[in-house]
Formats: sequence, C-alpha cells, structure tokens
Amino acid sequence: QEEWPRPARRRVITIANQKGGVGKTTTAVNLAAALSMHNQRVLVIDLDPQGNASTALSIEHRGDVPSVYQVLIEGMPLAEIVKPVPDMPNLYCAPATINLAGAEIELVSMVARESRLLKAINEFKEIELDYIFIDCPPSLGLLTVNAMVAAAEVLIPIQCEYYALEGLSQLLQNVELVRAHLNPKLSVSTALLTMYDGRTRLAAQVAEDVRAHFGDTVLRTVIPRSVRVSEAPSYGQSVITYDPGSSGAMAYADAAREIAFRGASVTG
Ligand code: ADP
Ligand code: MG
Repeated sequence: QEEWPRPARRRVITIANQKGGVGKTTTAVNLAAALSMHNQRVLVIDLDPQGNASTALSIEHRGDVPSVYQVLIEGMPLAEIVKPVPDMPNLYCAPATINLAGAEIELVSMVARESRLLKAINEFKEIELDYIFIDCPPSLGLLTVNAMVAAAEVLIPIQCEYYALEGLSQLLQNVELVRAHLNPKLSVSTALLTMYDGRTRLAAQVAEDVRAHFGDTVLRTVIPRSVRVSEAPSYGQSVITYDPGSSGAMAYADAAREIAFRGASVTG
C-alpha cells in the first residue's frame, strides 16, 4: 500500500454547501474512511441535526446520546462525545442528534456564538488527529458559521446537475464574510464534482463550467453516480468498506489521495 503523507499540522476541513442532497455527508464519510485506511487519524464532526454522517459511520445518535449539541450549547468537552467508528481503527465520529436543530436558535444569544466549535476543537487533545472533517447542515446559519470559524479549509461538493452553480456565490460570499471578520485563515481549498453521470452532456457541461470558475481548486477526480455509494449508509458503512472495488469507492479513494498529496503543502 502506498504511503500517504501526514499533514505537518492537523487539517480541519469544513464540508459546506447550503443546498441539500449535493453529497456533503457522503463526501465527509468516504474521504474520512479512505484517509483513515491510509494511516491518517481522522475525526468526522457531524453538524447536521439529521445525523446522517453518524448513521453512515454506525455511531449511535438517538436523542438522549450526548452529541455536538452538548458541546456547543453546554460546553461539554468534545472528548466526552467522540466515539471510535466500529472496525475502523483510525476513524472517530462526534455524533449529531436531532436537538441540534434547536441549537441554531439557542446559539443566537450565547457568548462567542460563532466560535464555540473552534474552542471545543482546540481543547480536544485526547486523540492525536491528522484530519477533522465537519459535515455541515444544508444552511448558512450559525452551525455552518461555527464550522467555518473552526476550519482553515472549506470543501464544496458540487452536484453535476443543472442548478449546480446557483447559490454558490452566496456560499462564497459567506466564506468571505467569515474570513474578513472571524477567521482570516479560511479559504475554499477544494471543490469536488459529485454524482457525475458520464452519459449526459449536461454533466460534462456543468463540470466544465465549474472548472472554468474554480480552476485548480477542483479535484481532478470526479465522483460518479453509483448505486453502491447510496446503498452503503444503510449498512452503517462507507462505500470504501462496503464495496471497495466499486467505481464510487475507487473515486473517493482517489479524491482522498489528491487531498492528502496536494495538502502536504497546505498550512494553517
Ligand atoms: P447532503 O449531505 O449534501 O445532503 P448526501 O451526501 O446525503 O447529500 O447525498 C444525498 C443523497 O444522494 C443520499 O441519498 C446519497 O446516498 C446519495 N448520493 C450521494 N452521492 C452519490 C453518488 N455518487 N452516487 C449515488 N448516490 C449518491
Ligand atoms: Mg448531509
């Protein structure tokens, strides 16, 4: 197995796009799984009240499980909620529960409301980590702002369909606002084309438009639409373990490899 470089400093990558269903969670889970299988120590922080990333990683997230909600609202240490992912030695998950939906409103009146996740991550020393992926909800509210304040990198999954670019300017504007006022280290480091259907002219056109707009930020690897990718979560698995030879698994492994190698020079 090829050695992948360990980042000089822990990389915190926020996966954001205020549109639902573009592949945020799938990307978070599968990049994390692929990196962990190449000896990188990885934490996935589930910041979506739906808890889809927790489900996909087989992490309990019933309403009474201590979750990111307690971390953000009650100041519970991250170490108390982080769980090892079954059968994945280097992979951990901080689960989300449905009460996180209320956190969006509860945060509004709280002290340092935008930087509560950052504080929790900075105080988390119990497990040495190479990567933290934050899986955002489909909105640009305070949960996503917390994720952007806690990270140096934003990864934008872009679904290869007609409205792909719509709404992206709003997302980029939010990244700019957070950079200007809250986190000068933040940048969009990565864009990833997801659910690509090679049979359609439209998908090729969208991919071309995205590359023209985002340039080298876009990973060369494109994630194909694949039934295996959508089946894996119902088995509590990444597609990387569920069907390693499938086109989706191989694409996510290639994307993770690109991130590991190009990021060797990324700092901050
Ligand atoms: P988001 O987190 O942005 O809402 P998801 O990652 O949950 O998006 O993906 C939305 C739906 O599309 C899910 O049902 C997921 O299983 C499915 N999906 C994601 N990526 C692929 C893919 N490459 N091929 C097929 N289905 C996919
Ligand atoms: Mg999601």
